[in-house]
Amino acid sequence: MNKGTVLVIEDDKMIQNLMSTTLEISNYAYQIAPNAEQGILKAASYNPDVIILDLGLPDMDGIEVIKKVRSFSNIPIIVVSARIDNEDKISALDAGADDYLTKPFNTEELLARIRVALRRKTYTGEETVQTSVFTNGNLKIDYAQGCVYVDDKEVHLTAIEYKLLCLLAKNLGKVLTHNYIKKEIWLDDNGCDSQLSLRVFVTNLRKKLNAADYIKTHIGIGYRMLQQGKN
Ligand code: CA
Repeated sequence: MNKGTVLVIEDDKMIQNLMSTTLEISNYAYQIAPNAEQGILKAASYNPDVIILDLGLPDMDGIEVIKKVRSFSNIPIIVVSARIDNEDKISALDAGADDYLTKPFNTEELLARIRVALRRKTYTGEETVQTSVFTNGNLKIDYAQGCVYVDDKEVHLTAIEYKLLCLLAKNLGKVLTHNYIKKEIWLDDNGCDSQLSLRVFVTNLRKKLNAADYIKTHIGIGYRMLQQGKN
């Protein structure tokens, strides 16, 4: 039985082959699109569980592909690109990508990212049914009451810490950029004029949660909440 369907949008033959082999031996069904146009068409017609996207495509920039796919679908998108600048990663994430990997990549790492994306898809699916309580390892957020618990002990957070935690929890497994977080929490840049202050809030939040590393830092890019107890 296959574990899910993957659409690979990639023009490089060698990487196409590497992806095919990796996905095949790991029991994923997949399709390959060698350019943006076919990629967007297949994203709609094949309706994959995950998209793996190269940014350097012959007919269109990958960032545009993300925007187009996002106009009709929330399929998780993992960018796999040779572009190593944080700016490119941030543009991809802000356009709606869920995650990124830099080429050359490790196939185990790629598979791990696919599993995270699939779990996130399932999780957000479930969440629409049950929205009142979030749990992740020892962490529990009761949205209805606005309370946070670690090991069943209540943790007192400031309003901003609470908003930040909820934002990360609602995007479990997804990398959120600094700009995205600031926009969501402060609505504009006035309340938080530097990356430094966001970092202070994250540091305080980590201290208060006093538990495993729920919040992973992506240096120069942003933060993500990791799902506990699973890799
Ligand atoms: Ca390419």
